[in-house]
Parts: sequence; C-alpha cells; structure tokens
Amino acid sequence: MIPQETIDKILNMTRIEEVIGDFVPLRKTGANYKGCCPFHDEKTPSFVVSPAKGLFKCFGCGKAGNVITFLKEKEKLSYAEAIKYLGNKYHVEVVETELTPEEKEKRDVRESLQIVNKFAAEWFEKTLWESEEGKSVGLAYFMERGFTEEVLRKFRIGYCLQENNAFTNAAEGNGYKLEYLQRVGLTSVSENGKTDKFQGRVIFPVTSLSGNVVGFGGRVVTPANEQVAGGAKYVNSPNSEIYDKSFVLYGLSLAKNEIVKKDECILVEGFTDVLSLYQSGIQNVVASLGTALVQGQINLIKRFTKNIVVMFDGDAAGIKAAIRVIDNCLENDMNVRVVLLPDSADSDTFTQQHSSQEIADYIDEHKTDFLTFRIRLAEHECANDPIKRAQFINAITETLAKIPNLITRSVFIQECSKLLDIDVQALKNQMAINMDNSLR
Ligand SMILES: [Zn+2]
Repeated sequence: MIPQETIDKILNMTRIEEVIGDFVPLRKTGANYKGCCPFHDEKTPSFVVSPAKGLFKCFGCGKAGNVITFLKEKEKLSYAEAIKYLGNKYHVEVVETELTPEEKEKRDVRESLQIVNKFAAEWFEKTLWESEEGKSVGLAYFMERGFTEEVLRKFRIGYCLQENNAFTNAAEGNGYKLEYLQRVGLTSVSENGKTDKFQGRVIFPVTSLSGNVVGFGGRVVTPANEQVAGGAKYVNSPNSEIYDKSFVLYGLSLAKNEIVKKDECILVEGFTDVLSLYQSGIQNVVASLGTALVQGQINLIKRFTKNIVVMFDGDAAGIKAAIRVIDNCLENDMNVRVVLLPDSADSDTFTQQHSSQEIADYIDEHKTDFLTFRIRLAEHECANDPIKRAQFINAITETLAKIPNLITRSVFIQECSKLLDIDVQALKNQMAINMDNSLR
C-alpha cells in the first residue's frame, strides 16, 4: 500500500509535459504542447498535451487521459507502478506501509533472489564477451549464425564456463548466499560439492514484463561441451518465488511497444527464433518456451493485443504444437492466425536467408486463419478417406465450440460449412452433442 499523502505529494509535483516529454518530443504551441502521437503512426503531429488541464489528447486516434493513463498505456504500468515511476522521477521516496511480518519476509526473499539473478546475468554476459572460452565457444556459435553484437547485447546473451563451479565460486566470493543460488536453480549441491547448473552453455536470460531477470535458459552449442555438461542439451531455471513459467513470455519486455503499435503479436517456438526475427526488424515477437501457451501467458498478450500470429516450424511437432496453441487462443477470444515456415527450414535459417521485407511479406502472404489452416492439413491427411474425413469434421466442431463469442463462432461455422461442403445445421447439431457429452 502506498500512503495517500505520498500519492498526493507526487501528483502535485508531476508536470505532465515533462513526463510525456521523456517519451515524445514536444513543441510548445501557445499554452499547449504538440508532438507526434506515440500510440499510432503519424508524420504530422496531432498529439496535444495541456499542462493547465493535466491532460493529453490525440486528435488522430482519440487516445486521451491524464499522466497516469499515459504511463499505463505507454509503459503498461499498473497504478501503483505508475506512482512509483513518478516518485522516482521527482525524487519522492515511496514507502509502502502495512506489510505484515510474513509479507515483509516474502518480499525480502524475492528481492534477494532478484539480486542473485541480476548478478548471474551480468556475470554470464561478461563471460561471453571477455573470457577466452566465452568468445571461442559461445560468441563463435552466435557469430557463425549471423547474429549481430547489437542483438546479443539487447537480449543480454551470456555464457557459463565449463569449469565445474566457476560461477558459484564467483557468486559466493561476491557475498551471494548459496541458499539463494540453489533456490533460483543456478547451483546444485551434492556430496561431490557445488555444481553450476548452466556450465558449458550459452545463456538466455528470461525477463519479466518490467525487464527484471527472473530465470535462465541454457543451451549446449558444441558436442564437446555436451559431455562435460552432463549430456542435456537444454537446461532451464526451475519455477521459483520470482519465476512462474506460465506467466512469462520470452522477449515480451522488449516486444511490448511494437506489439501495441502493430496490434499483433507473433509467437515463435524458441529463444533463437525470437532473436533472429528481432534482428531482422520484426520486433513484435515472443516465445512461449516449450509450453502450449497457457492461460497466464495468453492474459499477458491480451494486455497488448487480441491478434496473435503463431509462427512455428512446418514439421509434425510444430504443427501439433500450433494446433494446441490455436485451441487455447480461441477459448480466450483471441484472433489467431498461423504461419508455417517452409518445411525444411527452421526459423533461424529461414530468417537469416531472407531480408526483413521478405520475411514480412512471407508472413503476410502465408498467415491463414485457424480454420483454413486445419482444413488444408486435413486435405493432406484425409484425401479420399471418408472415415478420416468424418473424424476430422468432428474434431473441428470441438474446436469451433471453444470460441466464446457467438458471432465469431457463427461466422466460422458458416465458413466451415462452405469449405467442407457440410450443412450448417449438421455442424451445429454435432456441436450440441459434443457439448452434451462434455457435461455428462
Ligand atoms: Zn494517436
């Protein structure tokens, strides 16, 4: 809880033109200020800030409000976060009150874990760029694949030495508690001693929406390392007090502004998919990291857009994953489209062999609605087999039934009826039967 007097003090000191001026170049015109709207694309300024009224308004897209609205919309902050942001800007200390001892302890632990991760991210980063092994193994891997220094720095890519516990020693040497290192999954302890969980791997830090490092993904990039590092190609941080995988999307803190601007979010499968699309200039991109996009992650995306494009590999695993994502998105009233990459290519190679314009064109030309996507797949599989065809139509009615919006559902039922040449009523009847069965 932030005390009301602190809030009042901060809001009294706040000057809307100064706050917005940090994000948008403003020019004084009479009593007001004018600039190009940060919420829609424009070349002629129609975004007006009135210091006297403490309000902003865009005459292009209609966005309007006070300084809190601005921070909520532009930076996606909550009310409390916006107040803290302003407190920071105007040097007013925000002391939250009335925490119980349990709440306080929980907060202290979370803060400690946060600090441990921050140290680890910095250490891994430094190791990638400055150590011999980091450069010859980690950096060489990314450079061979055409990643630029700029994108590697942006995503804070790192490297953990092969040596058994070089990182843990460094962390303990800097005063970080072993208990916390274990709690976030950076160190494991056995009778053989302490081991760096990410040893011999390149590191992808996973951040929260506000950009704090909450976990890590590690990947072995040379066969030699694979043996040293205990075989597993991938190591990921476990869930902890600061990391819940079902509420995190890789890359979202960097992508959020672009998602809002384009009113669309591109979902890819893995770390390097995000990096390579981002590098090619397509920056409204996130990855769900091995899950099928669960509720918490969908809610995150929904804060920024209702439109999602699922861009997965065109192999069997990619298609299966895409179908699960589609169903989850439909249930949540999202507009979902699918782009499959050319069968042979994974997205790394695909994005590196094409310019950003070509990739953007490919996405535009190949993104299909979920129904067309499913039907095209089925045409492949069912060809002239009536039993398979019937099974497929049943499966589609199950998917259609997941669409909560009745009008959207009805539009897709009609479309489905046309595409499959099946009576609308038959589809509706089957959906009713499915519904009955599921209630039983
Ligand atoms: Zn606007």
